[in-house]
This record gives sequence, structure tokens and C-alpha cells, in this order.
Amino acid sequence: MALLLFRDDPYLRSCDAVVVAARENVVELDRTVFYPLGGGQVGDTGRIGTARVIDTRKGETENAVLHCLEPGAPLPGVGSMVLAEIDWERRHRLMRFHTALHLLGAVVKAPVTGGRIQEDKAHLDFDIEMEKLVKETIEAGINALVEAGHNTRISWITDAELDARPELVKTMSVAPPRGAGRVRLMEIPEVDLQACGGTHVANTREVGHVAVARIRSEGKRNKRVTLVFKGEA
Ligand SMILES: [Zn+2]
Repeated sequence: MALLLFRDDPYLRSCDAVVVAARENVVELDRTVFYPLGGGQVGDTGRIGTARVIDTRKGETENAVLHCLEPGAPLPGVGSMVLAEIDWERRHRLMRFHTALHLLGAVVKAPVTGGRIQEDKAHLDFDIEMEKLVKETIEAGINALVEAGHNTRISWITDAELDARPELVKTMSVAPPRGAGRVRLMEIPEVDLQACGGTHVANTREVGHVAVARIRSEGKRNKRVTLVFKGEA
């Protein structure tokens, strides 16, 4: 069970950590800044010592994080101290896109049926009629929230409190980030509030302007809105 430093400070780029397991090309640490694939957000990449980390996944036990090294990379010894460092530019883009999806979900008033955050784009799927999704309206709505400069806020509630407030689970296909009887909440006051375990920027202004790259039907209950950063489309 690793200490998940990104939960309290998503801006941490590196940490010293002790290797607690190393097998094949997978390393586990006693603490980590690496976000593992989950909640639609891809896993971090970076370095552990001199070895490249090409992906990060959740392990089977609670808070276990599997750092996947590139094939052939030398494994650090169990018990040794290493520097774990994420690819910050990539992660910061993921944080900006992840926060942008919270804004997208606030602008489009419909149930969210899926979502994914990658380095170059991010999307949410909505259970809504296609004609209600208007590119210009969505872009203007999100960018107004970006410019308004809302702070984001993380808090925790108990499992029981979440069960009493099912509306906090916005994305049907993504299980809420539970752990040790607590659930993490991400709030953009007066804009959005939902259970979320991902990494976000501190203020919506940091997202920067976004553009709707496309709106496409991916199924009866999946109308996909894909965002890119403005100027990158
Ligand atoms: Zn989130």
C-alpha cells in the first residue's frame, strides 16, 4: 500500500521513495507521484532512477501502484532508495484536460456515460440527443468558466455519505474512488461537484482555452464530445 502523493498535491513532480517490490518490468514503491490509469485518465510516464516508466497501473491491493518500466530496463533492488519523477509536461496537460472535462460536464446538462483523458485530447460521452450538442455553445460555455478563474477544491466524505448522495457519481461507467471508507470529492464551487480520484489544476484559468474538435455518435447512449486545446486542433 503506497502513499499516493498526487492525491494531496498533484503538482508534485518527483519524490524519493523506497522500492518495495520489483519483478519482471514492474516496480512498486512505498510512495509515489505517479497516477495510475483510472477514472478515464491515462497512467503517468516518467523515470524511476534512470529507468523509463512507460505506463502506470493500479495493483490488486488497495493503493497499490504498478510502475511499468520499458522492456529491458534494469530493475532497482528491493529496499533501495530511488528518485521517482513524472513527465511533468505530459501530466500537466492531463490535469488541464481533466479539469476541462469537469467544465464540459457542467455545460452539457445530461448524464455522462463515459470519458477518457489523454495527452492530446479528452472526451466525455453523454446520454443526450445529438441536436442538443452545439459546438459553439459548448466551447463558449467552457471558455467562460475558464476565464472566470474558479478555484478547484478536493475534499473527502465517507462511503455512507456518498451512498446517501448518489448524484455525486456523475460518470455511470466509472466507479467512484473509494478507499479506507472514504470517497474523494472534486469541487469547482458553484460549477461542479462530484466523486473523482483524478488530478486537476488549482484554478480553471490554468486550463486555457479549449475547442470542440468533434461531436460524434458512438451509440444510442453515447454522444461523444471531444476537446482539444485551442490552437492545437
Ligand atoms: Zn476529476
